[in-house]
Order: sequence, then C-alpha cells, then structure tokens
Amino acid sequence: MSLIGKSRYKKKAELGKGTYAVVYLAQDQKTNQLVAIKKIRMSHAKDGLDLSAIRELKILQELSHPNVISLCDLYIHKKNISMVFEYCDNDLEKLINNKEVILEQRQVKEIMHQLISGLEFIHTRWVLHRDLKPDNLLIKNNVLKIADFGLARYFGSPSDLQKQAKYSNQVVTIWYRSPELLLGATKYSSAVDMWAAGCIFAEILIRSPLFPGSDEIDQLSRIFAITGTPNEKNWPGFSELPINKEGAILEFPVKEPVQLKTIFKAASEDTIDLLSKMLILNPNKRITAKEALEHPYFKK
Ligand code: AMP
Repeated sequence: MSLIGKSRYKKKAELGKGTYAVVYLAQDQKTNQLVAIKKIRMSHAKDGLDLSAIRELKILQELSHPNVISLCDLYIHKKNISMVFEYCDNDLEKLINNKEVILEQRQVKEIMHQLISGLEFIHTRWVLHRDLKPDNLLIKNNVLKIADFGLARYFGSPSDLQKQAKYSNQVVTIWYRSPELLLGATKYSSAVDMWAAGCIFAEILIRSPLFPGSDEIDQLSRIFAITGTPNEKNWPGFSELPINKEGAILEFPVKEPVQLKTIFKAASEDTIDLLSKMLILNPNKRITAKEALEHPYFKK
C-alpha cells in the first residue's frame, strides 16, 4: 500500500457519517476512478474511537477478496488519517427497501452466496465482523462487498473459546445481534456473524427485518417467539450465560419453535433448511460459513 498524498483525490460529495469518520465520494485524478474516502479524525484519540479505526485499518490491509471491500490507499493530512476504498453505488439496505426491485430466487441465492463467501474468507483468517447489517453490505456492479470493519476483531478458533480473552457483547446492531450476545456472552465466535447473516437472509426474503426489537429484552422475546425458548437440553451451557445467572430468563414464557415455512411461505425447502441452520440458538450448533457454502441450497 502506498502513502500517496491527498492531492491525488478530488472530493465530490459527502456520502455519509460512520461511527468515527466522515465518508466522501471522490475521484482519483490519476485513474479517473470514483473512490470513497473515509476520513478519521486522529485529534479525537482521547475518546478511544481511534482504536476502531486502527483495528479497521489493520484488518482490512490483510484482507483481499471480491466480497470484502477493498482498501486501495491510505494517507495522512493535518492530523487526519484517510482510508481510500473502491466506491460502491448501492447497498443491500437500499436494494431491500426499493419495492420496485423484484428479487428473484436466483438473485437472492447470488446475494447470499456472495455474503457467505466473504464471511468464509474472513472467518478463515480469524476475523469476526461483528456488525453485519444490510447497510454495511455494499454493492458494486452486482457484486456484494462486506464493508465497515470498525467493530471487527481477531478471534481464536471456536474450540479455543475457553482460553479466549473476553470481548464486548455490545456489538452488532440489535436487530442482527445473536442470542448469545444478547445474553451477555463475552466469549464468542464466528457464529455471531452467521446469526446476523441468517437475519439478513430472512430480511431479503420477506423484505422487512425479521426481529426488529426495540431493546435487548424485546429482541430476545421476538427471537424466542420463532425459535422457541432455549433450555439446557437444546443449548447446553445456556444457563451459565451472564444474563441467565442474573435470573432474567425467568421472564421469558416457554415457547415452542415455529415452523419457518409458515413465515416464509414462498421459500423452497432448501431455503428454509439453510435459514433454519443459520438461526439455531445454540452457537455451537449453528451452521458455519464453510458448511453453508456446501449446503444443497447453493448446489441447484
Ligand atoms: P461506514 O463508517 O463504513 O459505515 O460508512 C458510513 C457511510 O458511508 C455508509 O453507510 C455508506 O453510505 C458510505 N460508504 C462507506 N464506504 C463506502 C464505499 N466504499 N462506497 C460508497 N459508500 C460508502
């Protein structure tokens, strides 16, 4: 990666504001390509936000895959660090919300294949994204790119969970947050991203969020209303999770699982089977990205 100066890029418009940065549309004067420049204020180092920027930078420098946003350049100007990305003119949230767009089964499959291929790639390199949601999945020329690695971090293999350092459980926008995170787990694995991907899969199918909870308890209630209430039998170790130790689980009425076919009426059997495996409560039983790519859903 080069440290080429700011002068190479001509700013055109503001694209949006992220957690610790402003993102601009700009044109690379050398190649004429459009780029997205994420400008991070280094002068704000005291409030700790720059740790996210450093993580994002470090992680993205090591990741190169067609379904992961590509970091093309990096420069520092007046105490600000700027990351230059390939520009994507669409994202999955816009696509889902555009009711004029009809998503055929084969397009849904293509989107999910791209998302899970990107996840398989990052998980194989021991990176957890931790903030998957439709607006972080950018689209360029019909290719989905996982973006915004501000909350990403390295993890140990799932079998190493007991030895692992404790991570924050306040990650992933609440609608896509996995039950183990909602129940306070501080040791977790790539299964948190697979849960989020399952919620996104459902959202593409029904064109609205599957679990639009208003707070963490409401989020869990909505999840359990479909998956059934967890217990030690279907999720061994469940009662040891921090929130359960505090007794909060007593407030959830016992629910039986709902057949997903009753919600996703038009979906094929393979669709329902893959979706149900992504939305398994027990993270140790939830399908991995590698397994999902081998699922019959992607074979037809
Ligand atoms: P982020 O902090 O990465 O979530 O970026 C904030 C917003 O900037 C996003 O929601 C997008 O609207 C926009 N954005 C970020 N990266 C890109 C990109 N590579 N291409 C186009 N828009 C982007």
